[in-house]
Amino acid sequence: MSAPRGPARPLLALDEALERLVAGSRTHALAATETVSTFDALGRVLAEDVRSALDVPPADNTSMDGYALRAADVPVAGTELVVAQRIPAGAVGHPLEPGQAARIFTGAPVPPGADAVVMQEQCEALAAAAPDAGGLGRVRVLVAPAPGQWIRRRGEDVRAAAVVLARGSRLTPQALGLAASVGAGRLQVLRRPRVALFSTGDELVMPGEPLAPGAIYNSNRYTLRGLLQAAGCEVEDFGIVPDRLDATRAALRGAAAHNDLIVTSGGVSVGEEDHLRPAVAAEGRIENWQIAMKPGKPLAFGAVRRGEGEGEGAGAGAGEALFVGLPGNPVSSFVTFLLCVNTVLRALQGLPTALPRPLPLVAAFDWPRPDRRREFARARLNEAGEVELYGNQSSGVLTSTVWADGLVDIAAGSVVTRGERVRYLPLAELVGR
Ligand code: AMP
Ligand code: MG
Repeated sequence: MSAPRGPARPLLALDEALERLVAGSRTHALAATETVSTFDALGRVLAEDVRSALDVPPADNTSMDGYALRAADVPVAGTELVVAQRIPAGAVGHPLEPGQAARIFTGAPVPPGADAVVMQEQCEALAAAAPDAGGLGRVRVLVAPAPGQWIRRRGEDVRAAAVVLARGSRLTPQALGLAASVGAGRLQVLRRPRVALFSTGDELVMPGEPLAPGAIYNSNRYTLRGLLQAAGCEVEDFGIVPDRLDATRAALRGAAAHNDLIVTSGGVSVGEEDHLRPAVAAEGRIENWQIAMKPGKPLAFGAVRRGEGEGEGAGAGAGEALFVGLPGNPVSSFVTFLLCVNTVLRALQGLPTALPRPLPLVAAFDWPRPDRRREFARARLNEAGEVELYGNQSSGVLTSTVWADGLVDIAAGSVVTRGERVRYLPLAELVGR
């Protein structure tokens, strides 16, 4: 079945593979931008700096419900002041005369003349002498306030003209909130990467269909589509492509027409049923790598030529769509997507491409047998906050990817003894990176 085994091919270090992916993708960086409502900008990459037109907060305001006053008017606890005005949030007061206090509520601007707020719990409201005259009465202040207390200063969060969000950063929910706080209702962002996805393999059947002998359900289509969506891509899904050269070539041409990147799973090994490599070679160019990583060793990187007039808005790479062929084993395609495809997508969008910094955590496992490939073992934290491994690390065992919260990055050729520190990469930082 498998091709005759020659001498083991030299393996490419993952870091070297990632560098080549970055170099090969930067030349195809996306250029087109669009303006979207800040409401709809989650996950998008900013194409311009966001600058504040105003100070935030725009005026000195109170962080407590209570009374605004002049601190000098209350030299000792128990001093009484006339309550001359009432300032709820959203309203604006008027200048405070000496000897007066203003009833004030959280968020309301502090009136001119006041230099401190005393919280209502430290005050005693005294009835107005003539309530029907509309007077607000008096207040006994039970503590001597410090000047400035409970006042949030104008501009203490953001100063007018400051850059609050930098071009080239991905918009998180917090970033959207910050943009909104400076009044930015629309944001200029990169257009989303367009990615074509297809699965190869005549054994594949879609869930919902009966499973004939020899068939398996196509799980990669779901995992990879979800990963692409989590990374903010527009996905054009080509489904299952039969293991035939002509069909594979046709699918590649169709995929290249309107996409920046083509991602496939399966068919990149050296078996004679693996048609992707010759198909991509015929439609463009391809490099086949054997990466020193586990799971996931075979990976193909290349590009597929576009026809005349295709690839609108693709920037410098308009003549071709990039191609990444992932291995078919479900855990291999998952892990190689996280490390390799995400890197390509980030390079295409001008985002920093370094992998997230691993956490140095204590191993609750032994890894006695060194491997010549760098291992990304499926792992999670136990109650003690130490790293434990899923029992079956086989590259077909998809349950490990759901059980896990992270990957332990174990260097090639190394062993791990319980209690040692290992490098832990949380999945939360890898999915949607
Ligand atoms: P390949 O890389 O095509 O040699 O496939 C390697 C292994 O992954 C085989 O056992 C395939 O059946 C399996 N496989 C390939 N593609 C998929 C897929 N889309 N979903 C689930 N398993 C797959
Ligand atoms: Mg196959």
